[in-house]
Amino acid sequence: MTDMPLLQADSSISCAISGPATQCANRDAIYLDYAATTPVDPAVARTMNDFLTVDGAFGNPASATHAFGHAASEAVGSARQEVASLLFSQPEEIIWTSGATEAINLALKGAALARQECGDHIVTSALEHRAVLDSTAWLETQGFATTHVKPDGTGTITAENLSKALRPSTIVVSLMHVNNETGTVTDIAALEPLVRQCGALLHVDAVQGAARLSMEDIAAADMISISAHKMYGPKGVGALRVRGRLRAELVPQIHGGGQELGLRSGTLPTHQIAGMGHAARLVRQRRTTDAKHVRALDRRLCAHVDRIEGVEVNGDRQHRVPGILSVSFAGVEAEALMVALGGVAISSGSACTSAEIEPSHVLLALGYDTDRALSSVRFSFGRFTTAREIDRAGQLVRKTVTALRRIGR
Ligand SMILES: *Cc1c(COP(=O)(O)O)cnc(C)c1O
Repeated sequence: MTDMPLLQADSSISCAISGPATQCANRDAIYLDYAATTPVDPAVARTMNDFLTVDGAFGNPASATHAFGHAASEAVGSARQEVASLLFSQPEEIIWTSGATEAINLALKGAALARQECGDHIVTSALEHRAVLDSTAWLETQGFATTHVKPDGTGTITAENLSKALRPSTIVVSLMHVNNETGTVTDIAALEPLVRQCGALLHVDAVQGAARLSMEDIAAADMISISAHKMYGPKGVGALRVRGRLRAELVPQIHGGGQELGLRSGTLPTHQIAGMGHAARLVRQRRTTDAKHVRALDRRLCAHVDRIEGVEVNGDRQHRVPGILSVSFAGVEAEALMVALGGVAISSGSACTSAEIEPSHVLLALGYDTDRALSSVRFSFGRFTTAREIDRAGQLVRKTVTALRRIGR
């Protein structure tokens, strides 16, 4: 069994032979793994180029003594405004990080350490990304306790189940907006008052929702983590939105030059930040167009999938964002399916766990058995996916599933 989808292995081999990475892209390959990472919008890539070379604004945004620094600082300021607008926030509430993993670490560790006098209890769910689960696991080694709220059968975190998990000693609650494996949407607006009543801080992992849904519903959260590379921006940059006074409380996790109100030291990567800002603007401008496009593709893919026997949608078909679809094919190993598909890039769970053969912790948390989890694949798509690609992928999946079942029999 290979650790990586064949597509990746193939392209790296042809890379080594044929030279520049730009020649690697297989023209016939179909990319349906947008939940792992999105391509950078070409307009965003052009913007980023303006902040690198000697004829661009390459200066250190912290250099207050010359125009090179001012130009970079100005670009960072506009990007901060763009990301704040996306999150229905104020620019000063945005803290740049290296991605959502770092934002989540800062949010959870920073808030737990800040509030340890008030309690030692953290609440999250079993459906979270590893960045959340492993940050809270680390906090447990520091004397904190974690409760994982159980989702209902559809993968939804209900008010009832959250209430049962909350205690007077709860200081931080972390929930995701849109699940990266099933696309299930959590009704943050309905849960937020419960967290507030309890006196705890609410952090929302909004990575997968940022490019797909309005962030207005989650704006009441104290902290929000997002990542540029899941919203048509570059990898290696993200942001933590920290509300009002909490900024003075949060305990920094990286120490140094005191950038970002001392909450995240380190020279700001102007090109990355400008890229994320531009990506955030495009997401807002194109929200309706992108959503309509993805909804149509989603219906199309569902129609293909529904023609295959022994298929089940994981999570909840209804309370799901279009563009993330997890399905299980009874009796078909996901790893075998992905290898046989070759030119269709999909995932058997989150990309972060695809190097392990362990079944997805999300699917197990939904109450599915190991067999179902190991026969599940995730299709995710977006702005640059075409109807033709969905049709070709749908036909190929159907053909391959049928063939694998015939061999298996
Ligand atoms: C990708 C992802 C992350 C991690 O983001 P990075 O910027 O890659 O560190 C966190 N949460 C969810 C839901 C994700 O999909």
